[in-house]
Amino acid sequence: MKPSYDIIVVGGGPAGTMTAKYAAENGADVCVLEKTRDIGYPVRCGEAVGHDGITQFVEMQKNWIAEKINSCTLVSPEGTKLDVPFANETGYILNRRIFDYDLSRLASKAGAQIFTKVKVQGLLFENDKIIGVKVNHLGEDKEIKGKIIVGADGVDSRVGRWAGLKTTVKIRDMESCMQYSVSNIDVKRNNMTMFVGKNYAPGGYLWIFPKGDNFANIGLGISGKYSKHKSAKKYLDEFMSREFPDASIHTSMCGGCPIAYPIKKPVADNIMIVGDAAHHINPVTGGGITPAMKSGMLAGIVGAEAIKYNDQSEKFLEKYVKAIDKDFTKRHHTLYKIKEAISQLSDEDINGIARNIDSIPTEKRTLRKVFMSSMLKKPSLIIDVMRIFTGL
Ligand SMILES: Cc1cc2nc3c(=O)[nH]c(=O)nc-3n(C[C@H](O)[C@H](O)[C@H](O)COP(=O)(O)OP(=O)(O)OC[C@H]3O[C@@H](n4cnc5c(N)ncnc54)[C@H](O)[C@@H]3O)c2cc1C
Repeated sequence: MKPSYDIIVVGGGPAGTMTAKYAAENGADVCVLEKTRDIGYPVRCGEAVGHDGITQFVEMQKNWIAEKINSCTLVSPEGTKLDVPFANETGYILNRRIFDYDLSRLASKAGAQIFTKVKVQGLLFENDKIIGVKVNHLGEDKEIKGKIIVGADGVDSRVGRWAGLKTTVKIRDMESCMQYSVSNIDVKRNNMTMFVGKNYAPGGYLWIFPKGDNFANIGLGISGKYSKHKSAKKYLDEFMSREFPDASIHTSMCGGCPIAYPIKKPVADNIMIVGDAAHHINPVTGGGITPAMKSGMLAGIVGAEAIKYNDQSEKFLEKYVKAIDKDFTKRHHTLYKIKEAISQLSDEDINGIARNIDSIPTEKRTLRKVFMSSMLKKPSLIIDVMRIFTGL
């Protein structure tokens, strides 16, 4: 490990390794500091992605794919099952252990240095200016200098806070998640199933994402608003004992998802925040892999440019903010409002909408028909949707 780098990336998830890859490709001297022993482990993810999302950045590799997905089934609170075949889309359930690892190899191939078992414990300041990070590397305290520090440290991010940026999330906008990877279950292949309703996952949804024969990630996320009354684990355990009493649990994990607006100011002098740390998760689906990769890519490109022009001021780094604004901030705000409108629906509303959609033959279930049918069942949705699109 060198005493200084142009760019220090804190965190070796998809946001961090993509930042490093693009920064190194564009000429910067970069390192990634990851606190755990292994890149990509432990996995805190349902591992679902879309083909188009991932292939914006990297070619899909066979060994990243645990399952190809070509349809989804939505289950209403009263049990109506709606099968929606994918028209042009392809989805995957990834092996994130391999996927994340390979992203770090791509970053390394581009010239970045990757280090594991390095816990970043704070920022280094000189006359109030950020000049590096304090770390513990294999039990030894060290200081590493960097012209730009990138906070890619995920949902529990501290880098932004250390830099004085506002990164707090309202309780209701923080999903509390629990997931088991289980075997010995009868699961529909190539299909993802989602259950909605207050008995399954209030303010969120429960998912079954298959990963090969008789194996799946089964998890759920509930809004922080509800988790203090009953934990995500309790909801999941109830579901498992009801639906899959004979399942063997190979991995259990819990985690949080900030389904919030992106943080307003993800840059300051010498600092940028990316991925979950910047709340770049799709607030409707909870999907954060692709947005993390996107914000990492944009931060990497702008970071390298800032090094080239020897200007790491907040003003220069705002180019990154402009790039994410142009790419996804507006869409993210719309999705947030859609999430809010959906969260106003009662179980009865959802049941009614599901029954209506169920009356449309599966092969004729276009998004437009589903949407119109939902409107007819719940006319107030028209007002909500108009509000979303007009911003009123
Ligand atoms: C239960 C659950 C299910 C999910 N399912 C999906 C899904 O199906 N599809 C999807 O697209 N998204 C899903 N997500 C979201 C997705 O996992 C994240 O959005 C994505 O991993 C974000 O990438 P990231 O690089 O920003 O953060 P992370 O992947 O969390 O990486 C952050 C890294 O920073 C490291 N780190 C943290 N602090 C420090 C420190 N001080 N020093 C050094 N290293 C540090 C961490 O160890 C970690 O490796 C899910 C999330 C949860 C919790």
